[in-house]
Amino acid sequence: MFKSLRDRLSSFKDKLSRKVEEEMEAAPEGAPAKETGPEQQSPVAAAPAGPAPPPVRPGGRAARRASRRATRGGEVRAAAPAAEGEVAFTDSIMGKMLRENKLDDLLQDLETILLESDVALPVADEIKEELKRELVGRRIRRDVDLEDFVEEALREAIRKVLAVEPVDLDAYVESHPKPVVLMFVGVNGTGKTTTIARIAHRLKKRGLSVVLAAGDTFRAGAIEQVEVHGERLGLKVIKHQAGADPAAVAYDAVEHARARSKDVVLIDTAGRMQTNINLMDEMKKIKRIARPDLVIFVGDALAGNDAVEQARAFEAAVGIDMAILTKIDADAKGGAALSIAHAVGRPIAFVGVGQGYDDLQTFDPDWMVDRLFAG
Ligand code: GDP
Ligand code: GDP
Repeated sequence: MFKSLRDRLSSFKDKLSRKVEEEMEAAPEGAPAKETGPEQQSPVAAAPAGPAPPPVRPGGRAARRASRRATRGGEVRAAAPAAEGEVAFTDSIMGKMLRENKLDDLLQDLETILLESDVALPVADEIKEELKRELVGRRIRRDVDLEDFVEEALREAIRKVLAVEPVDLDAYVESHPKPVVLMFVGVNGTGKTTTIARIAHRLKKRGLSVVLAAGDTFRAGAIEQVEVHGERLGLKVIKHQAGADPAAVAYDAVEHARARSKDVVLIDTAGRMQTNINLMDEMKKIKRIARPDLVIFVGDALAGNDAVEQARAFEAAVGIDMAILTKIDADAKGGAALSIAHAVGRPIAFVGVGQGYDDLQTFDPDWMVDRLFAG
């Protein structure tokens, strides 16, 4: 999972920490802190209450490592003006500061790595800017391990682009008036039908009754596929003939759920690409008639930027509430997973991590960041 991006981030991190080390050693002692920007005005992180740790001579990287603290994040923001008499003390606990122009080339390298990993351009830019904010103008305490410091800055930059208000689909379904209607949209072959079956399986395990609507009436094969899943999972499938109005299928499924007090309706929809405008009209009509509580976009992580573009197109046509990304188990680049939430402003609820019914995992930005920096 994410192997190529992970490897590239790892060598980038090494380069960046070497550069940061060089810059710190080259910087004149006592360079003034950057003066503008709200962050710099925030109070300095609390200095240790006891005596300051012994200063480590520049170049004493091994010594710094040896005295590395158990806690991370030992860096401190640029100093507030020190009161007279405090200067020596402050200097002994503060390292030097990073200047922006020294990092430009490396930030450009990061952008290239991200773009080549299928990260959408605005998202790559945002990560770069966040990293700059994390690093530039910061004083780094001398006893802090630079690799850890740089990794934490990178993690934070990536975490920020993944941070869209999270969703808890299980909690939503459980707390909402029944039947809860979920409409799934996305392009053919992305794993939409498999995803619907997995969600059905998940909800059924939680004690909820589920009805499937075979709403891709454009392909007879799609109706059969939903029926196969319905049989395997022991679920009622509402279907019409191939070519029937999908809005009618969805409507019938909702009516069935109401009449039989079923808890959840999962609506499959068509995803043909060649007739995009008709497809979007069809989605709008299903939405108008079936009135889903949530529209869920299913995208294929392997499609990279295309998955992001598809999510944007469905968002523009019908509005989506969340995304599910499939095939993340086979994805080396990670670009779609990094980009979708930020690009569309909707969270990733789940990721597909294999071919089985249980291979669906709730998505957590920290989980993603941990995968990207797993040793
Ligand atoms: P649909 O056309 O969008 O309904 O796509 P399907 O549900 O038929 O899935 C297309 C293919 O992708 C099938 O072979 C699935 O087994 C496979 N697939 C779906 N989700 C995943 C996943 O999370 N990981 C992997 N490796 N394969 C998946
Ligand atoms: P139009 O088809 O563009 O005129 O859109 P409408 O808003 O009139 O949607 C009507 C469509 O939704 C019909 O073609 C039906 O397929 C479906 N529909 C609406 N009401 C019902 C209903 O009571 N039962 C069923 N089965 N389908 C319905």
